[in-house]
Amino acid sequence: MARGVSPRLPAKSGRQDRVRGRAVSGPPAKDGLRLPAKGRAKPKAVEAVSPKLVEGYDPLAPERIKGILRHLDQLYPAATCALHHRTAWELLVATILSAQSTDATVNRVTPALFEKYPTVRDFAALTPEQLEPDVRSTGFFRNKSKSVVGAAKKIVSDFGGQVPEEMDKLLTLPGVARKTANVVLGTWFGRAEGVVVDTHVQRIARRWELTKNQDPQKIEQDLMKIIPHERWILFSHQVIHHGRNLCLARRPRCVDCPIEPLCHAADKTWTTVAVHQGAKG
Ligand code: SF4
Repeated sequence: MARGVSPRLPAKSGRQDRVRGRAVSGPPAKDGLRLPAKGRAKPKAVEAVSPKLVEGYDPLAPERIKGILRHLDQLYPAATCALHHRTAWELLVATILSAQSTDATVNRVTPALFEKYPTVRDFAALTPEQLEPDVRSTGFFRNKSKSVVGAAKKIVSDFGGQVPEEMDKLLTLPGVARKTANVVLGTWFGRAEGVVVDTHVQRIARRWELTKNQDPQKIEQDLMKIIPHERWILFSHQVIHHGRNLCLARRPRCVDCPIEPLCHAADKTWTTVAVHQGAKG
């Protein structure tokens, strides 16, 4: 354990005292995200400790959830979807292409793609094989081509060429599961029908002990019970940004993370509080 760092047991309320000097004071970054102040001394990583949980500790305590949401608001006040799009159809295509890929890669591909095929009807007229070369660099291009062309054909044949704005109808489109549907509904239509659970939300919800599940659909149900409905859309975007900026999969930047006093993740790289072996991404 690093010298001078004493892990603390979690409070029964689930709320931890603020650690002195950890206030977010950095200026808003250009993309509207607020990043932590730089220049703090970086203690070495501490070994994970696993003291007995304080009796009555509740990771879902409302005060703890509110604290996490407050920090997310300070860190990422303007978080939104990073996939470039001008229409619901373009967002749907970009989201399908983003599976197992990065938003940056998708954003490099889509401008030329939508210039070549400007409307959903242009896509519906293709075979998957014709689309494959245009989406190859996003990976899994055969399946993605099938999904995009299949979704276009169904939107044209069943929904008059308009992307539907109901969850049950979106889920009938090839290649569209709840994550993709939630992105389109929340980001384009402003409809909070669920919580987007991508790889970042999945990992971080588990680190924060907001769920014990691994399955994205079960995680979504758990989050929908504890995150206020009006926060569902923003919460997803904020957590995704947190997963990209600080709460990285392999080496989370815990020393820079203002949420650290509330986080008991076993795979933290630095801690001032007790870690819980079950809290893992
Ligand atoms: S303290 Fe570390 S593991 Fe916890 S939320 Fe912050 S970056 Fe993630």
